[in-house]
Amino acid sequence: MATSPSIAIIGAGLGGLAASIYLARAGARVTVYEQNVFPGGKAGIVQDNGFRFDSGPSLLTMPFVLQDIFTHAGKNIAEYLTLEKLKILCRYFYPDGTTLDAFSDPDEFADEIDRLSIDTGRQVRRYLDYCQKIYHHTADLFLFKDFRELKTLVSLPALKTLLNLHRIDPFRTMHKANASFFADDKIVQLFDRYATYNGSNPYRAPATLNIIQHVEYNLGGYIVKEGIHRIPAALVEIARELGVSFCFDTKVHKIAYSNNSITGLTTGESTIHYDCIVSNVDAGYTYAHLLNAVYGREARRYFKQEPSSSAIVFYWGIKGRTDRLDTHNIFFSKNYKSEFNDIFARRKCPGDPTIYVYISSRFNKSDAPDGHENWFVMINTPFDSGQDWENETRRMRKVIIEKLSTALRKDIAARIVFEKILTPRLIEYQTGSLRGSLYGISSNSRFAAFLRQRNASRDWRRLYFCGGSAHPGGGMPLVMLSGKITAGKIIHRYGLRS
Ligand SMILES: Cc1cc2nc3c(=O)[nH]c(=O)nc-3n(C[C@H](O)[C@H](O)[C@H](O)COP(=O)(O)OP(=O)(O)OC[C@H]3O[C@@H](n4cnc5c(N)ncnc54)[C@H](O)[C@@H]3O)c2cc1C
Repeated sequence: MATSPSIAIIGAGLGGLAASIYLARAGARVTVYEQNVFPGGKAGIVQDNGFRFDSGPSLLTMPFVLQDIFTHAGKNIAEYLTLEKLKILCRYFYPDGTTLDAFSDPDEFADEIDRLSIDTGRQVRRYLDYCQKIYHHTADLFLFKDFRELKTLVSLPALKTLLNLHRIDPFRTMHKANASFFADDKIVQLFDRYATYNGSNPYRAPATLNIIQHVEYNLGGYIVKEGIHRIPAALVEIARELGVSFCFDTKVHKIAYSNNSITGLTTGESTIHYDCIVSNVDAGYTYAHLLNAVYGREARRYFKQEPSSSAIVFYWGIKGRTDRLDTHNIFFSKNYKSEFNDIFARRKCPGDPTIYVYISSRFNKSDAPDGHENWFVMINTPFDSGQDWENETRRMRKVIIEKLSTALRKDIAARIVFEKILTPRLIEYQTGSLRGSLYGISSNSRFAAFLRQRNASRDWRRLYFCGGSAHPGGGMPLVMLSGKITAGKIIHRYGLRS
């Protein structure tokens, strides 16, 4: 076996970039192919007319995952990025006019709940302790490792998880569990919202997903002062120093194979040989378009799963400042259940959507011209199943403007001086995410974690997966963990130094 294998990574998303660094550090020869001229995939940048927006993710959690990549590469993250813990994680606006700040300080948050709700700060503390227990019983097994590996399955943590199954709450839905902790529908809605962090429906997703609230409230939510888009740029910088080669503006057309064993890839006329391939592109896209083989066991299983939700994002340059808004804001819908029914059952944009407004110019003045703000306005939508997105976008734009104008008592339409729009179809076009789903498959079943694409394919020798559609799932920290787990498997296979 060669000691220095040649590895091609398809896609310079956060998962692919993380994998490239762990692999290069272990001595592998790594080349990253990226169809766009810039890295980051969903974590990209939109800039025009003096406005700059993070194109997708806005809130960083589990910063230690990102820090680990820098440390592993022998770098000091502080020389590249400024991570700042948010004081207010999110400002919530309810249809009845209540405005509630989710403070990251537990005492302040408890006071806010005591002040504004029939529930109490003590209940919130008890709830966050419950979320923390789920994390302690699952994270090591389900997030940081490949739990389907034999050595993980027969380990002590696995046994502990099995013996404490009731503590990870897999049999209730997230909503049911949250409603058992709180009497106030507003607080239930606030915590149900976390199902959307991996594109799922709180009325169907297992309560185990309440792990996310622990990650945000107990471990902290962070902004990257320079903008999220600086994360991939910094990762490319350190990967290059470790010897990783990057081919930007280079679309991979096919993965080459013989007898279900990967031999290389094709970018144009010729096929380039590689010892193994890591696909950082959506697993469904990889099977359908890069392998042209949707008949294998894994591919068939993948296509049976329900994709996660998608989004419409309006990048708005806004004249003036709106003092009532914080950096991260949510305007809730009146009927959350009906909103999720629209998204997942009726597969249409909600009549009354929950709206997320993120303003990075609040902490980075250069993101908007003087006297202006950059509003990233997002709603959750179904994945693309042939909807008329032009019509849907027009309809949602009107609904959003009306709702924000009423809640903020301002004529929002008159203040929009710049606009760009992202739709589910564009998400697929720009990143290869099948049907524009943001996080691979949804977690709307308690078995979803077991059905995600494995990091090492079982059907294709020397083919690996990382990114949102692979284990352990979507969201920035998880895709970077996925890159690390995948790199670990290749390192182990070739006996490289880890
Ligand atoms: C609107 C939006 C909001 C989000 N908000 C958050 C948030 O607040 N917090 C959070 O943690 N996460 C959030 N996410 C999710 C997060 O952005 C993703 O989970 C993560 O960035 C995905 O990384 P990935 O490694 O799966 O790669 P991707 O970002 O999916 O990148 C895949 C890359 O592969 C490239 N590629 C595809 N096909 C080919 C080909 N044939 N040849 C070469 N290259 C190819 C693409 O161009 C792309 O660069 C959000 C996502 C979106 C879209």
